[in-house]
Amino acid sequence: MFSLNPCSKLLLSLLFLISVAQAQQPMLYKYQDLSKTYYKNQSDSIQKAWKCPSVFDDRETQKKYKEIWDGRTKFITGSLEDNDYVYEKEIAAYIDGIIDQLMKANPAHFKSKPMLLLDRSSSVNAYAIGNGIIAVNMGLVNFCQTREELSLVIAHELSHNILSHAENSMKDRAELLASDAYKDSLNAILKSKYERLTRLNKVLKNFTFNRRKHQRYHEGDADSLAIQLMKKANIAFDSRFFLRLDSADMEYHTPLKLELGKYFAAYDITIDDAWTKKRTKGLSTRNYNFKDSTNNDDSLKTHPECKERYERNKLLTDAGRTLTPVPAAIRERANRIIVWNLYRNDVITGSLYRILLEKDKGNNNNWYDLMFANAITSLYYADRELHRFGTIGMVKKENVSSEYYQLQTMLEQIPREQLETIAKKLGSASFWSKAQPDEKSLKSFLSTLTFDADVSRQNRSKAAEEFIKAFPTSPYIEFASPFEKK
Ligand SMILES: [Zn+2]
Repeated sequence: MFSLNPCSKLLLSLLFLISVAQAQQPMLYKYQDLSKTYYKNQSDSIQKAWKCPSVFDDRETQKKYKEIWDGRTKFITGSLEDNDYVYEKEIAAYIDGIIDQLMKANPAHFKSKPMLLLDRSSSVNAYAIGNGIIAVNMGLVNFCQTREELSLVIAHELSHNILSHAENSMKDRAELLASDAYKDSLNAILKSKYERLTRLNKVLKNFTFNRRKHQRYHEGDADSLAIQLMKKANIAFDSRFFLRLDSADMEYHTPLKLELGKYFAAYDITIDDAWTKKRTKGLSTRNYNFKDSTNNDDSLKTHPECKERYERNKLLTDAGRTLTPVPAAIRERANRIIVWNLYRNDVITGSLYRILLEKDKGNNNNWYDLMFANAITSLYYADRELHRFGTIGMVKKENVSSEYYQLQTMLEQIPREQLETIAKKLGSASFWSKAQPDEKSLKSFLSTLTFDADVSRQNRSKAAEEFIKAFPTSPYIEFASPFEKK
């Protein structure tokens, strides 16, 4: 018989409490897991290894090809340098599991293991870069309900690489740019005196159109191979996945369950309904630059023509198969990475809206409360620095739900004094008592910036340096780092 003395019982329950606290509050990731540091070696070797192959006899076409090729190398190494990607162990392991399953069942299609990059973007997308690299957005990981659905997108991107689509379209593009037809059209325009711009646009449009048509043809090929890879690997395919992906294009169309004011009331904050209604007078939205989340580069989009793709592949659906849900913890991790990323990219409305959607799902984790407070405080800080509108992340009314638009309008119109009061109230809310040390320290750093009107540049950088020194692996270094003395 195994029994415990009271002392070890106490110790065990303490350990249990600690592990529960940790389970509730997993770190986003380490600062060093961002791609600039984590993929430093890979980035260097890509720069060295990606030599443009000689494929065209014609010197001009080869020159164009090399320009496009080097542009792609620059794109990937630049994105790694900009920390567009993060290595998050659990999400990477989950997706690697899918890649491994597809590889093992289809050995003829894989010369080596593909390189997986996790893109911090919120957009529901993935893309193939060529040379065995695929990138999967956090928006997609958060969106996919089942492992099978996620597998389809991953198999699709792997198929683009297997079929050398990136390489082929670079070749096509080079041939096009060096072609006589293209040059003739440009020359004709340069010679003509009138309506140059209109004619130029017409020529460019024609070439773009041709390229899109080509792209669509590639999509069909990638789908067919993807479904084949999945079937060999015994991963169920359902053509309705395409329809779900179609609904993902507009990220913030999901309505909120409650009125906007109720979410603020939960923090004991009263908002004035008038703030959420667009005033006719005052600053015109025409003056702002809109961040249009739906306007992704079409050539990188995973899911154009979703209905067509559904129809084309519906007979291949594996009927009656049980699907495996993506673990809630994986989707939650992806969501936190997105919320943080939107926040630090000055898309405050998007960040806040995702927090409210979590509340609607019954997610009471206090990390979202902390981020709610940080977002409002940062808005006030931005207002004092005279760039409030730049941090709201304005989107057009027709691209979002009416609640999203209300929130955006409110963040735009709420008077400065009230914004200050609300930010201060959130700063002293009780949920901070449960925050991690680096979260608390981030808050005081943000408070110093925001509420200390006389804070000198020197003191800002001192505060930033102290934060970094105290928490050398905290993901929030990303916020403090720009304030360091350079
Ligand atoms: Zn594709």
